[in-house]
Amino acid sequence: MASIITNLRAVHARIAAAAQAAGRDPASVSLLAVSKTWPVAQVHAVFEAGQRAFGENYVQEGVKKVAALAGLGLEWHFIGPVQSNKTRLVADAFDWVHSIERLKTAERLSAQRDAARPPLQVCLQVNVSGEASKSGVAPEEAPALAHAVTTLPRLRLRGLMCIPEPDGGQDTLRRRFALLRQLRERLASEGLALDTLSMGMSHDLEAAIAEGATLVRVGTAIFGERQKPNHSA
Ligand SMILES: *Cc1c(COP(=O)(O)O)cnc(C)c1O
Repeated sequence: MASIITNLRAVHARIAAAAQAAGRDPASVSLLAVSKTWPVAQVHAVFEAGQRAFGENYVQEGVKKVAALAGLGLEWHFIGPVQSNKTRLVADAFDWVHSIERLKTAERLSAQRDAARPPLQVCLQVNVSGEASKSGVAPEEAPALAHAVTTLPRLRLRGLMCIPEPDGGQDTLRRRFALLRQLRERLASEGLALDTLSMGMSHDLEAAIAEGATLVRVGTAIFGERQKPNHSA
């Protein structure tokens, strides 16, 4: 567990250095600890080191951890693909969903979100890599989806999320992240102000912060290398 705490500090230092290099306030970038595949004990260790926001990709696994760690005041973000038959579990267990790519999914989540709870905070996942990635709404279709999602009563649209192709090189990465930033600027010019750009992971958080990331999603650099997941979502 000691190494997890050292790792967490090192990630904070990378975020601060990247923000400073970009002339940004380090406090303008928040850290989401991606705990997928890691047991509750590891998540708890990261919590004890001061981390409050955690991200999960697999519904069943995430729901179990949310229940096991209830009462600690953690904020849970769902960042994996949302299947229609799992929307109720997601709407019940999570505070945020980063991976909205279809209106249908958003409508189900809004309909299923408990009226007694705060609205589900959501981001649209945008396919910034074109044909290199299958996930996410196409950039040219994102504005229409964004405007439609803002009309749903139990969701609050907070921003945009992307996962660029991992092997594109530095220039490509910067262009992918810049595309998400420009999309947010376009939406702002259409009267839709969004405060969140969810982009950057263990290997590319510096490039993402240079392009304006407000939230980086970091797993490996905190928890270590994952075993291959052997379960389905
Ligand atoms: C796993 C995952 C991450 C974290 O990736 P690392 O490379 O381990 O930091 C971030 N975002 C999403 C959507 C993921 O699935």
